[in-house]
Amino acid sequence: MGKLIDGKSIAAGIRGEIKKEIDRIKSTGGHLPGLTVILVGDDPGSQVYVRNKERACQEVGIISDIKRLPATTTEAELIALVRGLNVDDKVDGILVQLPLPKGNDEIRILNEIAPDKDVDGLHPLNMGKLLKGEKGALVPCTPQGAIELILSTGVEIKGREAVVVGRSNIVGKPLAILLLQNHATVTICHSRTKNLGEVTRRADILVAATGQPKMITGDMVKPGAVVIDVGTSKVNDKLTGDVDFETTKEVAGFITPVPGGVGPMTIALLMKNTLAAAKLRATSGRA
Ligand code: NDP
Repeated sequence: MGKLIDGKSIAAGIRGEIKKEIDRIKSTGGHLPGLTVILVGDDPGSQVYVRNKERACQEVGIISDIKRLPATTTEAELIALVRGLNVDDKVDGILVQLPLPKGNDEIRILNEIAPDKDVDGLHPLNMGKLLKGEKGALVPCTPQGAIELILSTGVEIKGREAVVVGRSNIVGKPLAILLLQNHATVTICHSRTKNLGEVTRRADILVAATGQPKMITGDMVKPGAVVIDVGTSKVNDKLTGDVDFETTKEVAGFITPVPGGVGPMTIALLMKNTLAAAKLRATSGRA
């Protein structure tokens, strides 16, 4: 049976390191990083995610401010709010919790976030820097978390076959780029990929980010592979990954559980991005 990758404890370790650094800043009277999260409407999943983010901020010493707005908030009001936060020196990171209620142009609103406060890493400038391998990019949290989990296994990424199933802007695409930067040979699969199992069976490192519960089964996995399950779907009220854990754990070398794998890493990396954004702004003289 494959070894379990304990995202919960790896994430706790990352938060511990961040807390140490923020404690140091505090002790020297420096600027404490601030994160503002904008939550529009009452989507139950989003409420939980935002509460978890707030809790993590409290733990590490990031000043958090949650702007809870009614679903009736207009796009113009949201844009005005983001623009105000862009010029607020107390704020180092701005995160708009997705999905926004129907009728909002998410891309337009996200593109309003100042790139140096874009802790979700979704602004075209950050995405462009990531693609080009430029320093100083804020990189989406979940892909960074997935890379940390792969590195935690001790399996070298360089030269390996990596297959990412899913090509979203927030997970699949940036993760494929990060794997490429780590010198993997990368294949990206999606809903039109033919003979998916044939492709996934080549993977030394397999990441599933589709939102299709249990779609990756043991027979689609190369023996000994590192399997990272990003998916989180609710099935009969239970959080379920994209990977069929029972059949895959028998084949994989390493596997993440759901929950307790990628999820806690996403939040830990958000803390890391907020601290990084605060430092970037400090060195560019704006904090
Ligand atoms: P999207 O819906 O934006 O993207 C899903 C991707 O999966 C698309 O590229 C789609 O292909 C592909 N896909 C869908 N069905 C299949 C299939 N049958 N075979 C192959 N590919 C398929 O989702 P996200 O990337 O935002 O999220 C993916 C999952 O990860 C979700 O369950 C989400 O909840 C979870 N998630 C978890 C996080 C965490 O912290 N744990 C953070 C972010 C997301 P196509 O492009 O062709 O449509």
